[in-house]
Amino acid sequence: MTIDWKQTAQDYKQAYLNDLKELISIKSVRDDDHQTKDYPLGEGPAKAMLKFLDFAERDGFTTKNLDNIVGYIEYGSGEKTMALQAHADVMPAGDGWETDPFEMVEKDGLVFGRGTSDDKGPALAAYYGLKMLKDHGFMPHTKIRLIIGTDEESDWTGMKHYFDVEPEPDFGFSPDAEFPLINGEKGNATYVTTFGHTNGSDYTLKQFESGLRPNMVPGNADALVETGDNEKFVDAFTRFLDENPVAGDVKATGDGIALHITGKAAHAMEPKNGVNAGTYMATFLNQFPFEGAAKNFIAFLAEDLHDDSRATKISADHVDDIMGEVTMNVGIMKFDMQNGGMVNTNFRYPKGTDDKQILGKLQKAAGKHDAGVNEISNMGTHYVDPSDPIVSTLMTVYREQTGDTTSKPEVVGGGTYARLMKRGVAFGALFPGTKDTMHQANEFQPIDDLLKAMAIYGQSIYELTVK
Ligand SMILES: [Zn+2]
Repeated sequence: MTIDWKQTAQDYKQAYLNDLKELISIKSVRDDDHQTKDYPLGEGPAKAMLKFLDFAERDGFTTKNLDNIVGYIEYGSGEKTMALQAHADVMPAGDGWETDPFEMVEKDGLVFGRGTSDDKGPALAAYYGLKMLKDHGFMPHTKIRLIIGTDEESDWTGMKHYFDVEPEPDFGFSPDAEFPLINGEKGNATYVTTFGHTNGSDYTLKQFESGLRPNMVPGNADALVETGDNEKFVDAFTRFLDENPVAGDVKATGDGIALHITGKAAHAMEPKNGVNAGTYMATFLNQFPFEGAAKNFIAFLAEDLHDDSRATKISADHVDDIMGEVTMNVGIMKFDMQNGGMVNTNFRYPKGTDDKQILGKLQKAAGKHDAGVNEISNMGTHYVDPSDPIVSTLMTVYREQTGDTTSKPEVVGGGTYARLMKRGVAFGALFPGTKDTMHQANEFQPIDDLLKAMAIYGQSIYELTVK
């Protein structure tokens, strides 16, 4: 059988974009405030997943919805199962969009919208890769399942459910990262540090709020403060904004001085790509004589965590030759006078250290500020040998189609669904050289990239299941 992969992808362009537009218009952000028995994550994520299944039924595939939290599209049969693992949920939009995040906008060969890059665009490209084979009458020797999760951005509720109720697939890939290929993933651990609620008299921290998710560098921070000297305080803030890579504003309210800082949101797997508005806010506040738990909260952020994505200040840093460095993101920071303070930190770690060692270091640092630390989640490290055919076959297809013969399989700090399978890797769809806008405002993908990915996925599924 010969298929002109690139030409076929071009032929599908309009149909693909029409379907993508529909997917982007579904606000599939996990919404715990509106969870119901039928929709444990809120309606949005389920609706986007079901939309994928609708497309597949329209195109003649078999589908299955598992309890509105995960679904799959099936093609072919065989003793073994290959899985493609994608997701239909998206991160909250956040601020700073120039267009409606939930309306796909096409401009200069790019498509903008939440999910164009992570992961609706790539997931749909993988689907069209599969459809390409079916439309050409290809019969694989392996059962193929495209599994659509609905909670990748938080707890993997749906995809974990799949692995609880269905047998583990034999091998596969997740189109939810970057090209060429990721065969190693760092461990991923999240901790919460908690503080009391006491304050002093001259300077009072009434409220502090920054960050939406553990896996995102906060782009915004707000604080409400009563001070001993408003004028001096406001002057210092203006100076601080001038001297640091952040923007912001300040206003006097009936409740105190309200400060706002804007940094830059980014994915937690490389905090250096962002500017953490929250730890900058704490660094500003730390020069004033706050007291009690408020002081501890501010000092922990400013002195132990600020601007230290490798966690060297708390001595949790470590480097592995293959898997790289420990990284740390301070994802959520909150303080108020009733509930006290909390700081959520997320660590990505290589072989050679682990979640318990990091917990110990955090506890030691937090202890100096009268705070306690709890580990709230952990996933170990994941590594597939480069000689495994799942790595070598996909690399060959990628090299053949792109002409990029220098890129190598990589190890990253992001946890993808691929780690759920022993022989699982992440494969696309962000190309080297294309700007990474996942989890950011104005998320986009070049349409040509999505079509290139579709062609690569089509051939990859073919090569992996033809024998
Ligand atoms: Zn994703």
